[in-house]
Amino acid sequence: MNFYHLPFLFLLFTKNEIAISTFTAILSNPIEYLKGVGPQKGELLRKEIKVYTFGDLLQYFPFRYVDRTRIDKIASLSGYEDFVQIRGKIINMVVMGENRSKRLVATFKDETGTIDLVWFQGWQWMQKSLKENVAYLVFGRISVFNGVTQLAHPELDLLTEEIATGKQFLEPVYYTTEKLKARGLTAKAIGKLTKNLLEQLSPLEIRENIPVEVLQQYRLMPRAMAYFRIHMPASEDDARLAQRRLKFEELFIAQIRICRLKLKRHKQSHGFVFGAVGESFNEFYNNHLPFSLTGAQKRVLKEIRTDTVHGRQMNRLLQGDVGSGKTMVALLTMLLAKDNGFQACLMAPTEILSQQHFKGISELLERMDVKVALLTGSIKGKARKQILAGALDGSIDILVGTHALLEKEVEFKNLGMAIVDEQHRFGVAQRARLWEKNTIPPHILVMTATPIPRTLAMTIYGDLDVSVIDEMPPGRKPITTVHRTEYQRPQVMDFIKEEVKKGRQAYIVYPLIEDSEKLDYENLMKGYEEVKAFFPEPQYYISMVHGRQPAEQRQTNMHRFVTGDTHIMVATTVIEVGVNVPNASVMVIESTERFGLSQLHQLRGRVGRGAEQSFCVLMTGNKLSQDSRERINVMVQTNDGFIISEKDMELRGPGDIEGTRQSGVLDFKLADIVADKPILDAARASAEKILEEDTDLLLPENQALKEFLAAQRSKSIWSKIS
Ligand code: ADP
Ligand code: MG
Repeated sequence: MNFYHLPFLFLLFTKNEIAISTFTAILSNPIEYLKGVGPQKGELLRKEIKVYTFGDLLQYFPFRYVDRTRIDKIASLSGYEDFVQIRGKIINMVVMGENRSKRLVATFKDETGTIDLVWFQGWQWMQKSLKENVAYLVFGRISVFNGVTQLAHPELDLLTEEIATGKQFLEPVYYTTEKLKARGLTAKAIGKLTKNLLEQLSPLEIRENIPVEVLQQYRLMPRAMAYFRIHMPASEDDARLAQRRLKFEELFIAQIRICRLKLKRHKQSHGFVFGAVGESFNEFYNNHLPFSLTGAQKRVLKEIRTDTVHGRQMNRLLQGDVGSGKTMVALLTMLLAKDNGFQACLMAPTEILSQQHFKGISELLERMDVKVALLTGSIKGKARKQILAGALDGSIDILVGTHALLEKEVEFKNLGMAIVDEQHRFGVAQRARLWEKNTIPPHILVMTATPIPRTLAMTIYGDLDVSVIDEMPPGRKPITTVHRTEYQRPQVMDFIKEEVKKGRQAYIVYPLIEDSEKLDYENLMKGYEEVKAFFPEPQYYISMVHGRQPAEQRQTNMHRFVTGDTHIMVATTVIEVGVNVPNASVMVIESTERFGLSQLHQLRGRVGRGAEQSFCVLMTGNKLSQDSRERINVMVQTNDGFIISEKDMELRGPGDIEGTRQSGVLDFKLADIVADKPILDAARASAEKILEEDTDLLLPENQALKEFLAAQRSKSIWSKIS
């Protein structure tokens, strides 16, 4: 057992080895069997804090520690302290007030002065149990009541020898609930239960699950030691190192699972072999490619090539910032499919976007013998029948469309490659439906312009292979972003006029949030009227586009802007995804403070698509919250989608990033993938290294890990995924 490699543990834990057999499986004992718990408290612990077993209690970690040696002097309290800790005696107790404001007030004295301790609830009990002229350690939060500084509902401890001498230096604080407290399960009581459990436990009971080599490499303390120290630290360093070890463990185990999932998929799933780079790919590449590919585009194509020659299904996520040229990668990939005798499809989240893809791809392939078709919800009747027939008989090589492609009636003769654009708009389940479009699942490429922070991608999409286009096509001028307030509106409008004079076009975008839909429409209409006043016909033309218009009208309006018939587009966020008008050089975003960072970045990406200098104007009211200010600063400072998504995650937390909330993979007890990124990186690296050397975990040094995984499997969400 790994334990024996760590002799210093035996200095700490000198329990008899017989303990191994007596304590076997003790950690899976139901919590009610723990001394001091019993059936009723057991029930509450299960319900309130999901502690079912002894082991769960051990994993119920303190969320902070109180330093029992830091003592405040009453005379020097400012009232601004978060928490204070004082040492002294009660010199007087009285019950004050009438009826509901009845309270117990105890005058507490140390060598520098006095302060009131007050109880509004449960005061009868406090009155009985508190003693005058006995030394206490008092811990609490300062509040002001009727102009008097006091400590309401403080915690009191008799000043024991242990506390007085600083032996019990750091006290763990556990989260508890009102219901638990009512049953006597205060934070302190939970701590006591945990301490009792640890004291009767042999450290051998808490088996190591990380290979020794990894422990040594990252200087991690052994698992058992970490559990003892996180609950009973001797110093702050002690607590921190214990946390570090346990965070590493959480992340390491998660990474091992994700990486194994990926390896398993690589090994098991059959996929079509695209052995040839053939006629259409080469012809297009040599004769029709309108520009040279960027290095990043070439690299991604190579990655896709490598994926598709091995006879395994490709499942690749392609991340590339707005405008980085993902469509060209998609097109070349689809030609690769054709050259190997397969059909391909490209699915986009909106009707407009799929039309744009269809048009763009058709134009690029104009002089080639490749049949491209479009299928959306609005294509009906005979036209639809023809397309369905073409997909089925194989005469269509590339089918572009919306999620209409997922429908059962859409059958292919031989679909070999399915590409999903703007992945975050499609659910995982929808993606899975593409798998069923052929006897062997087609290769899947999902493309997203909402860069997911690397840390998140690792955790959530760890089972997909990830490619990144991290280079923009040459000649792009970075978009200039500025922040303007309501006072400066006339200048902003004048600026748009100048740009229009130069032949450019402009977007003005209004927020549309579902909760306040009605108000938002009113704002949009008001805005439209305002813009019209600034830009009168016939000198200027304006398109307005929003979700309440009939689809046809929306498309006409959009189309007029795309063809340059109108100068300004006033819109809600329906234009967010994919729309491509290279001549547009100004993006004005109204009520910027109401948009999230990723969304702002997406919107800004609608300009800067041509060779001209483009501008993004972030309009806000005059008053801004700290948070909005920070978001706006990020936008003004950088054009890099990856930096923005990292920042977004920092500001909102990983749970709020689209699509992650339900995934469950972020439910770590201790680790925080943002704050603990260095630990995550280390955990990922060691997980990969171990599996690379020992894919099936057969080596003796990996047995403990393997057993741990097997034992956890049945309880966890992972069993549902893998
Ligand atoms: P996105 O990644 O946002 O989908 P697109 O594929 O729409 O980006 O590409 C944005 C624009 O850049 C298009 O007009 C496209 O033709 C152009 N483009 C793509 N790749 C290159 C390249 N290597 N060199 C020059 N222009 C390119
Ligand atoms: Mg795109």
